[in-house]
Amino acid sequence: MTDREARHAELAQQYLPAEVLERFRDRAGVCDRENRFFDEDLDELKALGYLTLFVPASHGGPGLSLHEVSRLQQRLASAAPATALAINMHLMCTGVVKAMNDRGDDSLNWVFDEVMAGEIFAFGISEPSNDWVLQGSNTVAEPTADGGYLLTGVKIFTSLSPVWTRLIVHGLVAGSQAPAATGATSGTPAPDSDTADQAGGELVYGFIARNAPGITVSEQWDVLGMRASQSRATILDRVPMRPEHVSRRIPAGKHPDLLTFAITSNFQLLIASVYAGVAARALELGAAGLHKRKSAKSGTAFAEVPEARVRLADAHLDYLGVPAMLDAYTRDFDDLVDHGAGWPLRLVGARIKASDAARRAAETALMCTGGSGFDNSHELSRLYRDATAGLFHPPSADAARPMYAAALLDD
Ligand SMILES: Cc1cc2nc3c(=O)[nH]c(=O)nc-3n(C[C@H](O)[C@H](O)[C@H](O)COP(=O)(O)OP(=O)(O)OC[C@H]3O[C@@H](n4cnc5c(N)ncnc54)[C@H](O)[C@@H]3O)c2cc1C
Repeated sequence: MTDREARHAELAQQYLPAEVLERFRDRAGVCDRENRFFDEDLDELKALGYLTLFVPASHGGPGLSLHEVSRLQQRLASAAPATALAINMHLMCTGVVKAMNDRGDDSLNWVFDEVMAGEIFAFGISEPSNDWVLQGSNTVAEPTADGGYLLTGVKIFTSLSPVWTRLIVHGLVAGSQAPAATGATSGTPAPDSDTADQAGGELVYGFIARNAPGITVSEQWDVLGMRASQSRATILDRVPMRPEHVSRRIPAGKHPDLLTFAITSNFQLLIASVYAGVAARALELGAAGLHKRKSAKSGTAFAEVPEARVRLADAHLDYLGVPAMLDAYTRDFDDLVDHGAGWPLRLVGARIKASDAARRAAETALMCTGGSGFDNSHELSRLYRDATAGLFHPPSADAARPMYAAALLDD
């Protein structure tokens, strides 16, 4: 075993020991069925120090790298995908602060102290019909005399909704020009497309506190998969963002900025890690299914039937590129490699390939288990539903394709 792999094994043992994972896996089925939040998992994760993973030693944390956290998140997702996806949002916020600090910007380091004090961070960026995502917002941010803002709008799919205490949000500064209509209403893909720099106005990024006035969490949450994430909509009605929690004011549209780069990198690679974990577990269950199922015709287990082996082999081949991408890209990110315009291609590519691999692995595994996997009590039927959530993280494949085409075809 290389030193690096030995370190991953140590971290897995320290933060996600096998017996803990088994408990998470058992509870994942219960939380899914009861459509409830993973409170017990969260208590265990807190006790293990999992929420402080990215906090550097200078602030009292273990200071893990994105590469190390990506491996842990793959492991967690292999047991409890919804727990991993939701806790990802907290990890991502802290990973963003670490990434900025590593690149010489310590303006958000207060987040580390809050994490050590037990605050839980969440990600309030997605909005209805905002396919500009990070580059635009339909939340209105009214400036206040003290240098803060009052935010009014709807954030959808806020994972960790029962427990978050700090939410990173963005809004369009009132009085600054509204985004141009072309991209926002035509369905033109926003992220990194050429039309994105036509967005107008200024965006403010910062954090709001859960105990601030004007926050309502939607009652509605009855979804296909990732149910325990409880990613309910958050309605903001003139919610104060205090001046000391304002992080950035940047032009809407395609404008390079360290904060949005750090968000995109952590978001794409950690979300990809979750779906990589789902894919890995689905393949394991598929293999177990082939060993267990007997074929009367061939007189053997399906594990010896060539067609069944080929099907599983193909899904395995699809999957193997994903952890390789994640290892390479997270290490480059940690090593501050400058891929320039090549970064979005890598980051979004890893996430799209991971979610594709998870859906394919889950479907293949269902074919391997046969009808028993279709039963709602089977882990695979839940994994199949959880994997479909990967269709909805931005940018979608449709939104991303122009970027890949342009990288090869345009000057
Ligand atoms: C399991 C899961 C967890 C996610 N976690 C996060 C997260 O933590 N943070 C984050 O920023 N994004 C999160 N996302 C959001 C995701 O990344 C996408 O941005 C989102 O799915 C985009 O959906 P859409 O453009 O298709 O939305 P739309 O089609 O515009 O809306 C989708 C849903 O939003 C809700 N909605 C729409 N309008 C309103 C309204 N006015 N009031 C209340 N609800 C409304 C409805 O339920 C609707 O079905 C998560 C997604 C999933 C699937």
